[in-house]
Amino acid sequence: MAKPRMETRHVPAPETPAETRVRSAVPGIAWPAIPAANGAAMLALLFQMEQSQWWPPARLRARQRDQLAALLAHAAARVPFYRGRVPPDLPEGADWEEAWRRIPVLSRDEIQAADATEALLAEELPPGHGEWREIHTSGSTGRPVRSVRSQLWELIWHGFTLRDHLWHRRDLGGRLAAIRESGAGKATWPDGSAAPSWGLASDAVFATGPLVSLNVLTPVAQQAEWLLRQDPDYLLTHPSIARRLAAECLARGVRPARLRQVITIAETLAPDVRGACAEAWGAKVADIYSAREAGYLALQCPDHPHHHVQAEGVFLEVLRDDGTPCAPGEVGRVVVTPLHNLAMPLIRYDIGDAAEVGPPCPCGRGLPVLRRILGRVQDMLILPGGERRWPLLSSSDLAALLAAAPGLRAHQLVQTALDRLELRVEVAHPLAPREAAALADWARARFGERFAVTVREVAGLPRSDAGKFRDFVCEAAP
Ligand SMILES: [Zn+2]
Repeated sequence: MAKPRMETRHVPAPETPAETRVRSAVPGIAWPAIPAANGAAMLALLFQMEQSQWWPPARLRARQRDQLAALLAHAAARVPFYRGRVPPDLPEGADWEEAWRRIPVLSRDEIQAADATEALLAEELPPGHGEWREIHTSGSTGRPVRSVRSQLWELIWHGFTLRDHLWHRRDLGGRLAAIRESGAGKATWPDGSAAPSWGLASDAVFATGPLVSLNVLTPVAQQAEWLLRQDPDYLLTHPSIARRLAAECLARGVRPARLRQVITIAETLAPDVRGACAEAWGAKVADIYSAREAGYLALQCPDHPHHHVQAEGVFLEVLRDDGTPCAPGEVGRVVVTPLHNLAMPLIRYDIGDAAEVGPPCPCGRGLPVLRRILGRVQDMLILPGGERRWPLLSSSDLAALLAAAPGLRAHQLVQTALDRLELRVEVAHPLAPREAAALADWARARFGERFAVTVREVAGLPRSDAGKFRDFVCEAAP
C-alpha cells in the first residue's frame, strides 16, 4: 500500500473560527447558556435566518409577500404620506408582484419634501416595536435626509450584523479595528477610541474581543501608524481607505501581523481593492452593501465575491427603465423596501444606485444574487451625444493608470462638462510633463477621444462629511 504523500506546499489555515460562545445571563448557568431577553430575540432571528437562507426563491418571496402585506396595512392606516398611495393589502396568489409594481416608486426628493410635515412618520407604532430612534444621513448629494427607525428594526438590523460575522467565519474573540465616520473631532489620532466589545449587535448574544476606532478623516500615514500599533485581526473601513492604506503599508514595507480580513462598507467596492488588500496584507475582503436609511441590503457570499440580497430584511428590486424587473445579466436601478421599519416606512424607495442581477449562487443559498453593485446612478459618465455609461475601471485599467504616473497616490475623475474631463491626482512628487500627457492619454483611451482632458495636481481629494469618497463625479448636465 502506498504511503500517503507528504504535502509540502503551503496550505492556508482553515477558516474555522474559535468557538462562538453564547453569553449566559442567568447566574449559576454557564452552559448551555440562557441569554437575556434581547439575546433570546436575536437568537430566534438567527435560528430562522439560518434556515431561510437555504430556501428556494419562491418560498422566500412568499414569506416576503406576507411581511409586505403587513407593512402596507400599517402604512395605509397609520402613515399620512401613504394614504391613497399604497393598497392596504396584496393578493395572496403569485400575481402579488404585479400589484406591488403598481405602487409608485419613492424618490429621495419626496422624502425630503415629506419631512417638513413629518408625513412619512407613523402616527403610532404597534406594541412591541419599542421606542423611536432618529438618525440623519448626509448622502453624497449633500442635503441631509432624516430617517426615523424603531427599536425593533435596530434589533433586526443587528441580526444581519451577526449573520455577516458568522458567514465570514470571524473569530469573535479577535480584535476589530474600524476606520469610519466617528463624528467630527471624535476618535482622532493618535489614540482613536476603544471599547471592550464589538458593539451592541454581538453583545446581546456573544462575548467578543475589543473594538478600536479611528476617525475616517485621519491622514493615511497616521492611519498606517495606528493600524500597526493596534495590530487587529479584522479591519472595517471604506474601500477607498483600504486601498490607500494598503498602498501605504506596501510602500513602507510594513504589515500588521495579525490582520486576516478587511470588511468594507459605505462605498462601492472598486475591483482593484481586493487585489490591493491581498498584496499588502494577505487579507481577504468581505464587502457589505447597506444604507443608513434602509439597513442591510446585501452581504458578500461566504464563498464567492458577489453579494446575496438580505431577503429576510429587505425587498430589493432591480428595475429596467420601463419598471419591469431585470433578468440575470442585466443592470438596473435599485429600489428597496425595508420590511420591518414601521416607524418611517420606505416603500419602493429608489436609493439612487444601480446593480447587475446575478444567476443563482452555486453555494446553494436561495437569497437573490447581485453580481455587481455599480454605485450611484448620478455618477454615470454622460457621452457628448447624451448617452450615459458606467465609468467602470478594471484592474488592468488601474494598473495602466499607475504605469502612466508611478508617483500617483490617489485619483478622482470629474466630468466638468459634456466634453470635458478633469483628472485630479494626488502625487508623491510633481508630475513631469510627459507623465501629465500620459495620464491625459489614459483618460481619453478609457472614456473617449472626444473628451478634452485636464490633469490637475491637488494636495488632497475631498471626502463627504460622512467620509465617503467617489472615484468618479459627474458635474455635467445632460
Ligand atoms: Zn452564495
